[in-house]
Amino acid sequence: MQALKGAEVSAKIKEQVQAILAEPGVQVPRLAIVRVGERPDDLSYERGALKKMEAFGLLAQVYAFPADISDQDFKTAFQAVNEDPEVTGILLLRPLPSQICERDIENMINPEKDLDGISPVNIAKVFAGDETGFAPCTAEAVVEVLKANDIPISGKRVTVVGRSMVVGKPLSMLLLKEHATVTICHTRTKDLEGTCRNAEILVAAAGKSKMLDSRFVGDGAVVVDVGINVDENGKLCGDVDFDSIAEKAAMATPVPGGVGAVTTAVLAKHLAEAARRRSK
Ligand code: NDP
Repeated sequence: MQALKGAEVSAKIKEQVQAILAEPGVQVPRLAIVRVGERPDDLSYERGALKKMEAFGLLAQVYAFPADISDQDFKTAFQAVNEDPEVTGILLLRPLPSQICERDIENMINPEKDLDGISPVNIAKVFAGDETGFAPCTAEAVVEVLKANDIPISGKRVTVVGRSMVVGKPLSMLLLKEHATVTICHTRTKDLEGTCRNAEILVAAAGKSKMLDSRFVGDGAVVVDVGINVDENGKLCGDVDFDSIAEKAAMATPVPGGVGAVTTAVLAKHLAEAARRRSK
């Protein structure tokens, strides 16, 4: 089984970002990372994003707020970032604490700065197959992994395990746009094992440590593991039991070192794209 390394895909995306920045009139863009509280997941994603922006020659700034900030105070602060002409794009770390109405923020964010596809405008564009918006970075990262490794998508049977608005649903739409025959699975799916085994490309985005083992994988399948979980020994792991599928799958992304590295590269590409659109 061949491991599909995220670093190699990220390097290809870096070339695309540099090509955009070299276009006449495109200014070096600035990312605003908006964080409320200090959840370890958020801090880890923030570190990864900051590192990636620096490596790609892009600017980034963190706007951190206390976990107990009121809904009104956060909205006022968020609107200031949203309207700041120095800010090219925004990454909002979620979920927000329960006192803040996340739906209001999704409606507030300027779709042109919404790099992670949370605004209803961008979500509608993903579902309409309209490329003028921004798709959620993780969903797009899965498609980037397949394309960068020259894995054909058109006409393939693709099974996506997970139907969240962050990964499963938008990813299914992006794959459909690439002419895949997509099956979406969730907790009510009957015969998950057979549905997964029938797939030529299997995408795991369930958030359950190593739940998919060799029984779920067809011979020669390509497996993309979006899951980021912690196993019983406190080690980072995916939704796929990587060792177990080695004899069955043709290729698979490892965790860590797979989709995660590509997600921040896609974020960087969206930031550069936002700068390009602004220059027009
Ligand atoms: P959610 O918890 O929002 O969604 C999980 C989905 O998986 C749900 O649709 C759920 O079904 C389905 N599911 C859960 N358990 C099972 C099961 N046993 N059988 C079938 N379906 C199941 O998670 P997210 O979409 O936000 O994230 C998924 C994973 O991806 C997580 O591990 C997360 O950490 C990771 N992630 C990784 C990123 C990256 O950059 N690589 C970025 C974002 C997320 P139902 O709808 O029926 O409940």
